[in-house]
Amino acid sequence: MKPMLELVDVYRTYQIGESTVQALRGVSVTIERGEFVAIMGASGSGKSSLLQILGLLDNPDKGDSLIFGKNVNTLSEDDQAGVRNNVAGFVFQQFHLLKRMSILENVRLPHIYSGLKGDFHQEAIERLRQVGLEERVDHTPNQLSGGEQQRVAIARALIRDPLIIFADEPTGNLDSKNSAEIMKIFKALHEQGKTVIMVTHENDIAAYAGRVITMKDGLIISDERKAGFKPSEASSGEAGFELHDSKVSLWQDGRFSGFMAQAFQSILANKMRSFLSVLGILVGVASVIAMMALGEGAKAAMQEQLKSMGSNMLSIRGGSAKIRGAAQGAGAVARFTAVDVTDISSLHTLVKNAAGVVNGSARIVYGNKNWSSTLTGVGFDYGTMRAAIPVLGRWFTPEEMQKREKSAIIGVTVVKELFGNSNPLGKTIKINRINFKVIGIAPPKGFSGPQDEDDVVIIPVTTAMYRVLGKDYFSGIFVEVASPTLIEQAKTAVSQQIRKRHRLKADDDSFNIRDMTEIQKMLTSTTQTMSLLLGSIAAISLLVGGIGIMNIMLVSVTERTREIGLRKAIGARKKDIMMQFLVESVGLTISGGFIGVLAGVGISLLLSLFAGWAVKTSLISVLLATTFSAVIGMFFGLWPARKAAELKPLEALRYE
Ligand code: ADP
Ligand code: MG
Repeated sequence: MKPMLELVDVYRTYQIGESTVQALRGVSVTIERGEFVAIMGASGSGKSSLLQILGLLDNPDKGDSLIFGKNVNTLSEDDQAGVRNNVAGFVFQQFHLLKRMSILENVRLPHIYSGLKGDFHQEAIERLRQVGLEERVDHTPNQLSGGEQQRVAIARALIRDPLIIFADEPTGNLDSKNSAEIMKIFKALHEQGKTVIMVTHENDIAAYAGRVITMKDGLIISDERKAGFKPSEASSGEAGFELHDSKVSLWQDGRFSGFMAQAFQSILANKMRSFLSVLGILVGVASVIAMMALGEGAKAAMQEQLKSMGSNMLSIRGGSAKIRGAAQGAGAVARFTAVDVTDISSLHTLVKNAAGVVNGSARIVYGNKNWSSTLTGVGFDYGTMRAAIPVLGRWFTPEEMQKREKSAIIGVTVVKELFGNSNPLGKTIKINRINFKVIGIAPPKGFSGPQDEDDVVIIPVTTAMYRVLGKDYFSGIFVEVASPTLIEQAKTAVSQQIRKRHRLKADDDSFNIRDMTEIQKMLTSTTQTMSLLLGSIAAISLLVGGIGIMNIMLVSVTERTREIGLRKAIGARKKDIMMQFLVESVGLTISGGFIGVLAGVGISLLLSLFAGWAVKTSLISVLLATTFSAVIGMFFGLWPARKAAELKPLEALRYE
């Protein structure tokens, strides 16, 4: 059978600046299963270097390192991590426990990188019982004595049931009583079948071992087996030695949820710092949402206003659209009647409503007061189309329209001039010497240019045509298009309809159709520019926030270098470390984003409540901001995460 561990003529040289240190200068050694080996020698003689190469924490510059005859030097860094996780348990002089975690979680840690499913809670408790600490599972390392911490580290080394335990001066930081306790545990482990390889410079510690290898200046100067010391019975063959499949996806085993849990643990461990570092993201997201809400609100308000002006309204009038067009003769002005309105209304998909209007002037008399105003005769649908339905009083009924009833709705200017402060509803006024009953007051509209939109009298179109103005045709037709996007289509269709009905040639412009799209286009582009401007300000603050995150993650990587070293020693691969830090930075930005969303929505609400600004929070902006903050976490977390992943386990462990 092949020896378990074998080094063949191994060299290891360290380079520090100009000088080189030859830590190992041609070491060959084999170690069999069940041995208990102590490596001794003076400080600097190369003991740790030898142990690290045996434990696959380090690779020789020259020479081979074999496990069961298989050369492990040539394995990739990640595969070596896999072997360490499966075969080796490490115990260090400095314990290297992770301070933020309970000792139970510390013991469980190697399992995160094992690729096995399960929480291994029971196993961890079992290992802690083995070292006599089952009562302390919830404690953190800081609450334990040095001896107890080292026992936790041994429990951690045992969790993956390794073939070999590597211990580098495990009692170096302990008093003699604790040292004895620790050595009793190692002795028991050896008796249970574990191979133990231990570095020490104390004779009474080495006395526990069955074989003592002594080193001097990078060479083995003696290798003695104790007479009568029995190697423990190793259970079976090479069972423990297999590479774990590095192709197993992160999601299949429990690793990812482990990273999530750890990320949140670490975020929560530094609450204030985490909060301050996400402040940039928070402000960025909040402003994106608030600004987009403002932009959208302004847009909606403008559209509302446009709508009351009639944004999807077409106005059809007889006569040329050309101001300087030559006179076309008497027949050139199209005269519209109820038939045209019916025609246009029948364009169902494009037209929602159509109503004929006539305009004229009115001389209104009430009591001893009189007033001149514009007279508008309107069809039934005009009320809803032009938002002219009275709040005080009522709109005309269809019967009134049909029977050419003498009812009138007057604007507020007319009310003020004729009635002062008294109630005009139900009163009789004279319009062009005809008695009309006032049935409503038109909703106030203010001025449009120099025109007072409230200085109006509205009466049924039929009454206006046949009783007041003596006309048998409309002055124009108002058309409400089904949706603002259909305006152009509706214009063409209506125009074709009219040409057909009046038998006009295609180039005959004896009528014209106007719409509001020009104004609308202008307003839309204004609001778009505004949104873009607000958006880019918010984007800049998100970017600055991202840089803040990168900064804090770099600090975090430096701060946790030893943690990274430990994780790598117990089997973390590059992408495990990378993922851990990425999850953490994305976790940070997403939580920042989440608070930012709340803040943004809150600010929008406050603006609308107290400043009376029109705001409209959109789901899109919320989604956009959250996605963006996650992407920022990913992007700005990448470099620190890579930096962490590229660390060499040994160098990281030695970092002060
Ligand atoms: P021991 O464990 O016997 O005290 P080491 O194996 O740690 O000895 O070190 C052997 C020699 O190599 C020492 O001179 C030490 O200073 C040097 N050495 C060990 N590790 C490093 C390193 N990472 N960088 C530079 N020199 C090192
Ligand atoms: Mg050492």
